[in-house]
Amino acid sequence: MSYYKVKGTYDVLPNEAKNWIALENYVRKLFKTYNYGEIRTPIMEYSQVIHRETEMSDMVTKETYNFKDKANRDLTLRPEGTAGVIRSYIENKLYAAPGVTKLYYIGPNFRYERPQRGRFRQFMQFGCEVLGSNEPTIDAEVIELAYQTIYQLGLKQVSVQVNSLGDDASKAAYRKALVAYLTPFKDQLSKDSQIRLEQNPLRILDSKASEDIEIIKYAPRPQDYLNETSKMHFETVLSLLDTMHIPYEINNKLVRGLDYYAHTVFEIHAMIKGFGAQNALGGGGRYQNLVKELGGPDTPGIGYAFGMERLLDALNQEAIELTDQTTMDVYFITFDDLSRKQAMKLQHQLRTQFISSDMDHLARGFKQQLKEALRYDAKYLVIIGEDELKNNVVQLKNTKTENQEVIPMDALLQTLKERLNHDKI
Ligand code: AMP
Repeated sequence: MSYYKVKGTYDVLPNEAKNWIALENYVRKLFKTYNYGEIRTPIMEYSQVIHRETEMSDMVTKETYNFKDKANRDLTLRPEGTAGVIRSYIENKLYAAPGVTKLYYIGPNFRYERPQRGRFRQFMQFGCEVLGSNEPTIDAEVIELAYQTIYQLGLKQVSVQVNSLGDDASKAAYRKALVAYLTPFKDQLSKDSQIRLEQNPLRILDSKASEDIEIIKYAPRPQDYLNETSKMHFETVLSLLDTMHIPYEINNKLVRGLDYYAHTVFEIHAMIKGFGAQNALGGGGRYQNLVKELGGPDTPGIGYAFGMERLLDALNQEAIELTDQTTMDVYFITFDDLSRKQAMKLQHQLRTQFISSDMDHLARGFKQQLKEALRYDAKYLVIIGEDELKNNVVQLKNTKTENQEVIPMDALLQTLKERLNHDKI
């Protein structure tokens, strides 16, 4: 009997885990720079948090994992981060704190999609939500942060696509105009778009179906229906992006998948070798009604999310190494029971100071131990042979410079601390 992982999932093995850790560290550092605090919410929510009356996107209606627990409660594995974060923001009364609330998250989401490259059923996202401000400065900050996230990693030709759907009134006027335009073509639209025409017609704008594309070409655009307030908001966001020299393109077909978006919506693209059309690494937008809808006070929000598998894949394609590549500090070379015992003692000392190390646990010969040390890319070898034991010393070898010296055993910890610190500079 063989066992396999669930379709659309993957294992992260140690050689890949270090990239995940490095990316997570990078994300945490970046968010700290922008004064965001981390929030961790459960991977499951009561279904009504996700399945709201106003949310008709495919992701929510077709792709969620829904189940009942033993007490017959309806639960859903979260397909995205925002709804759970907002539920928590309300439940924990974070809105009572003064000022805006800036939150970020890193964690898994679940969508029952057709698996392919860059598309999984369990996948990781990091993202942010800023609650409590209507000011365009926060739209611009969130877009700047999204841009920085990718640009600082070293990816090339990063571009921001941005659009505005306007406030509720503008959105409603646009929706009406779009439905009026599309209805005569109803029979010519794709099956999916025929359904969208009733439920969320804005989504038809970014349809990839060939029969839709011709029709969409001449459809009215959201920007033609922005009222004065919405227009002003959008223009201010764009001028702030100009001030910060963030390159952007206005994409007046961009609507994004979720129904709650209003005003600013955006996506971050990068040119990645071998990625084809699927180069949107993340995106987000403003939402004005979600907090109210989930039972909280009337509070505006804006956020974004990035898919981490796609980002790691992109970094790999572009041969970009995240700087936080930890290698082993020390490998101990031992010869017999006595030297192994001594190595165990020294390792314990080093590890209390977070100096990483390992040694042989298979009683292998010198050559094989050396091979293993190379495989781990250890920075130093500590060799403990018979003579060394007799004289209470060790041989310390720098594997890069090949420099080898004799060090008293009780000076090893201090010597390594200084050397490793120096290596970092
Ligand atoms: P969305 O929440 O659909 O706006 O997606 C935001 C980002 O998450 C996308 O740009 C992708 O990078 C990533 N993403 C979305 N769905 C998946 C999936 N099924 N597997 C892997 N990454 C995904």
